[in-house]
Amino acid sequence: MTKTPKVYQVGDVSITRVTEMVLGGISPEIYFDGSWNPAFLEENRNCLPAGLIDGDSQLIVSIGTWVVKTPKHTILIDTATGNDKNLPLNPALANLQLPYLERLQEAGVSPEEVDYVLLTHLHVDHVGWNTKLVDGQWVPTFPNATYVFPLAEQQYYSSEASHNKENEANFNVYEESVLPVVEAGLTQTIGPEGGELLDIFKFIPTPGHSIGQMSISLTSGREEALFGADVMHHPFQVFNPEWNSMYCEFTEQARISRRRVLESIADRPVIYFSSHFPESAAGYVTRSGDGFKWNFV
Ligand SMILES: [Zn+2]
Repeated sequence: MTKTPKVYQVGDVSITRVTEMVLGGISPEIYFDGSWNPAFLEENRNCLPAGLIDGDSQLIVSIGTWVVKTPKHTILIDTATGNDKNLPLNPALANLQLPYLERLQEAGVSPEEVDYVLLTHLHVDHVGWNTKLVDGQWVPTFPNATYVFPLAEQQYYSSEASHNKENEANFNVYEESVLPVVEAGLTQTIGPEGGELLDIFKFIPTPGHSIGQMSISLTSGREEALFGADVMHHPFQVFNPEWNSMYCEFTEQARISRRRVLESIADRPVIYFSSHFPESAAGYVTRSGDGFKWNFV
């Protein structure tokens, strides 16, 4: 059962979430990799937004894409995990058969009309639908799109340096989901300092979770939004910015980027579009004492 997706308006741009999957039953102790403090949940259970945990107090997260429609262009931000992928070191995400393209269609998007695919970073759950398997070949799913991503991510994930034990989750991902769009001549890269795109987007370096990750801001008229990428995986990290997830590769840098993003949007009318939060995955950050709070919209 799919709910009709919400449409968010930022200036003259509309934004919709297409969810590829919702994952529950995730142990916070494992996910927050040494940072988890059960007292946080005990002390705050009654004032946290609904939908963050399941009945067994295990985390709920999601994987998906943000569809951005401007008066001129159709843009996707991150492309989830994809079907049919060969991920021998990441069996939970391997060989999926999910109706993502049907859900994209329900959101009013057919693959041919996508003009841009913006990728915050090149991890397994952000690049998968870049390509699809046709007659044994990985081909671009969005044949008329320009795929835009940070250069540092491409340099790292195409290199031997990234093919190590710490990166098992991403083994084979570059080869199946990124290289085919590079070879098709459909890519454009963003240098280490970040940069602007289409007058409305700005790539902002937020490294740590991955080597060259960037968040993407959107400004239309007087209104602003931020696609934060994986500076946070779950709203618990808004309340506890020092908590990294088990997928953060460069841990100290990840903490610095998370706090910087929270400081930059707290108590401002900037809607935050997350990669992995449950429920709507969108909301606002407000200040609360010395820290921050999360509010879904
Ligand atoms: Zn992710």
